[in-house]
Amino acid sequence: MTSTRERVLSGMRPTGKVHLGNHLGALANWVKLQDDYDCFFFVANWHALTTLGEDVREVPANTVEMVADWLAAGLDPERSTLFIQSLVPEHAELHLIFSMLTPLGWLERVPTYKEMVEQLGLESPSYGLLGYPLLQAADILMYTPRWVPVGVDQVPHVELTREVARRFNHAFTAQVFPEPQAKLTEIPKVPGTDGRKMSKSYGNAIYLSDPAETVRQKIRPMVTDPARRRRSDPGNPDVCPVFDLHRIFTPPEDRAWAAEGCRTAGIGCLDCKDRLLAHLEPALAPIRERRRELIEKPGAIVEVLREGSERARHVARATMDEVHRVVPLTP
Ligand code: SF4
Repeated sequence: MTSTRERVLSGMRPTGKVHLGNHLGALANWVKLQDDYDCFFFVANWHALTTLGEDVREVPANTVEMVADWLAAGLDPERSTLFIQSLVPEHAELHLIFSMLTPLGWLERVPTYKEMVEQLGLESPSYGLLGYPLLQAADILMYTPRWVPVGVDQVPHVELTREVARRFNHAFTAQVFPEPQAKLTEIPKVPGTDGRKMSKSYGNAIYLSDPAETVRQKIRPMVTDPARRRRSDPGNPDVCPVFDLHRIFTPPEDRAWAAEGCRTAGIGCLDCKDRLLAHLEPALAPIRERRRELIEKPGAIVEVLREGSERARHVARATMDEVHRVVPLTP
């Protein structure tokens, strides 16, 4: 299938079920992009190896769980190419070629590398972790996309990708890799139930697959404005994580009701949370229902990914033919 639409590429590490933070930070945007772009979305399973350790055994099952959410949220394999990174081994070859051209300093200065080393307390970070953004550059450039949808913290990675493309084109005096542009995605603030950023590792996440009752049980004890200890204390919605969710899911009229009731102590936090649940549930229910059907047939999900990977590989082979043409290695 060829397309004249501009191409977009993005990936997600297979960490399992998708939570609201992943959904609103990436997946919901991917679903929209399908209408206007030739989209390639991939399961970044080699990337998962950089930090997973023992959890690596869970990658296959996590892939199925995650892609069930992708499909349930509206990614359409007829319109978008959904694939698994490791089923397109051309990515590894391109990464190797790029690694010969890339100065170490370019990778050492990527901010997310230092952050990860500190966060994970790694005394001896792996070669793969340092090379993570370079594998990402190979993932991206393989499909010569015009756009890479990213949040602001990922912009340095796209910048590195552009530098790598320039370096390759210059080294082999060829225009194999056009420089992609970062397509900045507005990522809403999605707090977890404890008020910190929603994250699987914090245990504070609400998943697309959570039954309605589970969502209720997570939202009702959710952290609120810490200054509002009693029902009679006025609160401040601007510092309340529950209100951050209202900003995303609640229509203006009810949002104004919550803000006013909070500031005047006219409503209690449970009233406020119940109103949030009333708007959250209609957004989650159709996704949850589609997911329930999809996960009953995991073989069909794997088939979608295998077919998508074949399609991706077709494009990757064409790119590598061009690379082989300009990088003279064999007689
Ligand atoms: S009333 Fe709503 S916005 Fe105000 S503190 Fe309680 S939960 Fe937060």
